[in-house]
Amino acid sequence: VVASMAHLQEEKLRLQEELLALQDKLAARESQELAVSVQLQGQVENLKANLREQAQEISRLRSELGSTDVEKHRDLLVAENERLRQEMKVRDGELRELRRLQEPCRGCTHLQENAGLQERLCQLQREAEEARGKLAELELEVQQKTNRLAEVELRLKDSLAERAQEEERLSRRLRDSQETIASLRAQPQQVKYIVKTVEVESAKAKQALCESQSRNQYLQEQVGMQRQVLKEMEQQLQSSQKTAAQLRAQIALYEAELERAHGQMLEEMQAMEDEKNRAIEEAFSRAQVEMKAVHENLAGVRTNLLTLQPALRTLTHDYNSLKRQVRDFPLLLQETLRSARAEIGQAIEEVNSTNRELLRKYRRELQLRKKCHNELVRLKGNIRVFGRVRPITKEDGEGPEAASAVTFDADDDAVLHLLHKGKQVSFELDKVFPPQASQEEVFQEVQALVTSCIDGYNVCIFAYGQTGAGKTYTMEGTSANPGINQRALQLLFSEVRSKAADWDYTITVSVAEIYNEALRDLLGKEPLEKLEIKLCPDGSGQLYVPGLTEFRVQSVEDINQVFEFGHVNRTTECTNLNERSSRSHALLIVTVRGLDRSTGLRTTGKLNLVDLAGSERVGRSGAEGSRLREAQYINRSLSALGDVIYALRSRQGHVPFRNSKLTYLLQDSLSGDSKTLMMVQVSPAEKNSSETLCSLKFAERVRSVELGPVSRKAELAAWPSQEQLEGDAPGATASSSQSHASPSPAQPGARAASIRRKLQTSG
Ligand code: ADP
Ligand code: MG
Repeated sequence: VVASMAHLQEEKLRLQEELLALQDKLAARESQELAVSVQLQGQVENLKANLREQAQEISRLRSELGSTDVEKHRDLLVAENERLRQEMKVRDGELRELRRLQEPCRGCTHLQENAGLQERLCQLQREAEEARGKLAELELEVQQKTNRLAEVELRLKDSLAERAQEEERLSRRLRDSQETIASLRAQPQQVKYIVKTVEVESAKAKQALCESQSRNQYLQEQVGMQRQVLKEMEQQLQSSQKTAAQLRAQIALYEAELERAHGQMLEEMQAMEDEKNRAIEEAFSRAQVEMKAVHENLAGVRTNLLTLQPALRTLTHDYNSLKRQVRDFPLLLQETLRSARAEIGQAIEEVNSTNRELLRKYRRELQLRKKCHNELVRLKGNIRVFGRVRPITKEDGEGPEAASAVTFDADDDAVLHLLHKGKQVSFELDKVFPPQASQEEVFQEVQALVTSCIDGYNVCIFAYGQTGAGKTYTMEGTSANPGINQRALQLLFSEVRSKAADWDYTITVSVAEIYNEALRDLLGKEPLEKLEIKLCPDGSGQLYVPGLTEFRVQSVEDINQVFEFGHVNRTTECTNLNERSSRSHALLIVTVRGLDRSTGLRTTGKLNLVDLAGSERVGRSGAEGSRLREAQYINRSLSALGDVIYALRSRQGHVPFRNSKLTYLLQDSLSGDSKTLMMVQVSPAEKNSSETLCSLKFAERVRSVELGPVSRKAELAAWPSQEQLEGDAPGATASSSQSHASPSPAQPGARAASIRRKLQTSG
């Protein structure tokens, strides 16, 4: 045991020594490995630096000739291209413009334009040359870049080869190291253990190695990537070159186009030149023709000039003589003016004398006209008889008594038939108005008479007939449908107004009443006062009524007031106006006085409108007292009127005007060239047929008075008195008893006084 112990101890010691040796070896190995790893690290570091360098070189190369520059160039070229294209377009436009302008502009402007165009062409050519130079420069630059790229590629290849060698070397050394490690591993078991321990201890180194390897791997990958990048770059370079080639082709194309345009332009210019030449030739030939014409004209003018010279001479002569005349003109003018003045004065004198002569002739004509008119009236007869038949009224009652006994002739408006006691009696008058005749129609037949009083004639219009036959209706009418009185005055107003330029007229009216042979002024302050008819003291033989009121009237309002005033005065005298009015004659006397301003001629015409008292035979019914007396007065005055008219128409030397107040008053309006109208009013009713017969007989007798000495005598015997007229009618009684007592009158009312005041102020 001790020996084994000792042996073991020895073994232990030897092992310890061996361990120490191994430890030393391991330490040495470790240090060796450390050195190797440090070396490897340095190499890795180196490679890294190399890689960095290469990357930098690549980026440098890229920045130097990489796609950016090529792209830049390409962009530049594209821009240039674009510019050229624009230029081309502009030129095209210009060319078109030129072509367009070519049509209207011919002649002399062509030369200038041509020069301008040539200049422009030169400029364009210069520009094209410049563009070509630029293109060559660019191509050179591209060539340089390509060369440098090739150089860089070569260098890259070299560095790649170097790197491959380095890599190979490194991998060789790595293999060596691995082999050493394998040989070390292949040592005895003990050593294996130790080695294991050492291996364990050198794990760190192993890890570092691993890391190195992975790094190496990474680096290899990087190199692969770099290669790829390089490949891409090459591709890019290729595509750039392709684009450059394309651009070049395009440039060539553009150049060809430019050439073509240039050719075209030249052609056009040639055409324009031709055109210009042609135009010039044309103008020249035209000018020659014109020149010829001008020459001819000139020759004509020359000959004209030759012929004009004598004319010029005569003109000069004329001018001189005119000059002389102008010099003498003021004298001549004065002389002419003197003679003209004298002539004008003479002419005025002549005109004046002619005027005077004309005025004299006019006055003579006026007198002649009046004479002629008188003659006409004389021939026609200045006494006319009209008949008017009123319509059947309510007052006529009903039954056979109210039936119409009057019929008319459809063809003759002057004939009327009366059925009396079963017998038809026909009468012929100047005109017959049937019941339907209007006031206006009646007035139309009367208006010529009315207007003649403006010319200075005296006119009487009488309404004759039995009471109720329509006398008052015809003369006065109603306010809605006025009669002759108002219409006559209105007509006079309008006639006077139409003559106002030459004549001054005044129209005055008087209203009077004759009752029981007493004349009363219905417009007077004292309507009851009896007026006398007297001879004018001037010895003219004219009659006048002192105190008879005359109102000047100028309008219809004035007339209405006058009529109203007359009525008021009349009503104050009696209780029954209708009864009273039928027993008295009512007169409206209108006097028209005129003055012709130019001749100084004065005219006076009188229009007497008389509403006679009823012609009915009252006396025969045995009336007594005042009624009888009234009847007698009426009969006498109506007979007197008949007598006067008869005497006038038969032109008797003596006309018994004085037999009644009425005829006496109207003496100057019935004699001479006066005109008279008798309007005989009749009722158509059967019951009035006797009175109608009487009235119509009166009318016919008045009318049938014939002019001339032989008939005069016969008529004298035939003319009946009013009493005789009545006597003709059945059952008539004549009475000759007279009484002059007048009915007791009443005082005129306050109303009459007020109207009178009004009228006087307006008149
Ligand atoms: P005179 O005056 O003759 O007595 P009037 O004029 O008073 O008669 O007439 C009597 C009546 O007959 C009145 O009512 C009147 O209105 C009427 N009269 C008369 N003539 C006509 C006529 N033409 N148309 C219509 N009515 C008439
Ligand atoms: Mg009457």
